Amino acid sequence: MLSIIIPVFNEHESLVQLHAEITQVCVPQLIEHEIIFVDDGSKDGSWQIIQQLSQSDPKVSGIRFRRNFGKAAALTAGLAAAKGDLLMMMDADLQDDPVEIPRFIARTKEGFDVVNGWKVRRLDPWHKVYPSKVFNWMVGRLTGLKLHDHNCGFKCFRKALAGEIRLYGELHRFVPVLAFARGFSVSEIEVHHRSRQFGYSKYGFNRFVRGFLDLLTVKFLTGFGQRPQHLLGTTGLLCFGAGTLGLLYLACVWMFGHALHPMLAQIGLASKVWESHPIGGRPLLAYSVATLLLGAQLLSLGFLAELIVANTSRETDTFSVADRTHG
Ligand code: UDP
Ligand code: MG
Repeated sequence: MLSIIIPVFNEHESLVQLHAEITQVCVPQLIEHEIIFVDDGSKDGSWQIIQQLSQSDPKVSGIRFRRNFGKAAALTAGLAAAKGDLLMMMDADLQDDPVEIPRFIARTKEGFDVVNGWKVRRLDPWHKVYPSKVFNWMVGRLTGLKLHDHNCGFKCFRKALAGEIRLYGELHRFVPVLAFARGFSVSEIEVHHRSRQFGYSKYGFNRFVRGFLDLLTVKFLTGFGQRPQHLLGTTGLLCFGAGTLGLLYLACVWMFGHALHPMLAQIGLASKVWESHPIGGRPLLAYSVATLLLGAQLLSLGFLAELIVANTSRETDTFSVADRTHG
């Protein structure tokens, strides 16, 4: 069965049409499906429409949040309620065209675990389209998963993935990346995109700033989530080493150039290099102490992080099972 999860935040004009379009595609093609609308704190009567739809169509169910918790939270609630073995996410604003649903399913049947949409002709304002291209390029470079449209809300994946990734904050943008990092196979298909007919977009330009910060988080989580000290500790040791070298050098300068200088001068060993140099005012001293402290900080932060991982990490965090023998 296919579970279609639709986050809804003030989209009341679109819901009836969206439901009708999904039904028109799925019923004739005998696609067994359910539709889960998650109302993310709408204040425009979306919930009443979801209630009506679920009364008239048993395939429709709804979840209503007490307030707006964000798209990732809505998707998480939908995933938890889904009964299908294939899950689909799509936006409620009619921008994603349900006509594409069978193509997503076909691609998963080819053996892919995650199929991401790619809005080839994207009908959004330019200030969304161009930064998005840069974002996709950056995600590809940093994570190794090169997709044209990471942020596409239209995607389909196997249920196994839902149990393994946690979507919180705004990490819904990184479903393919999180999946890829756990060894799931990811593919993309071109999808037809429509311009927004009703309502307004919930995300402005600041999504790119937040997206970039989230990208760093995801990079850290997927690379070092299970071994944070390897990143923090390596950087810490480097800083610590640099600071130690700096201080050692200054200690030599002080010893030969300052403390032992009169004695060396007496026996005629004082060279120009070791002329009396007090080290108290040297910038290198401040830099060395700062890097030494930073190194110690990073190392202890790394130990704290390891402690958290050791005590909180779930078994599924450490591996991902593709198959088992039966019988
Ligand atoms: N959405 C949500 N909670 C939010 C913001 C958005 O559930 O806090 C839903 C919204 O109703 C829509 C989808 O997420 O179904 C995508 O939002 P939007 O169309 O505003 O994003 P855009 O297409 O502009 O990227
Ligand atoms: Mg939209």
